[in-house]
Amino acid sequence: MTESQKPDAPACPICGKPMVERYRPFCSKRCADVDLNRWLTGAYAIPASEEDDEDGEGTEPKERG
Ligand SMILES: [Zn+2]
Repeated sequence: MTESQKPDAPACPICGKPMVERYRPFCSKRCADVDLNRWLTGAYAIPASEEDDEDGEGTEPKERG
């Protein structure tokens, strides 16, 4: 058994591969993008429901029996 990887080396939080100094704390730009995307997606995950217009000003002609 010959382990070339140090157990102390931090792992990429996305895929678990050994971190690369250049892209830390990730292992590659791709993983960095993935994390960034997650972050952005979470920030923009606010449901904008402006279709609930219950102002009572609805001028919809209703037929009355
Ligand atoms: Zn990774």
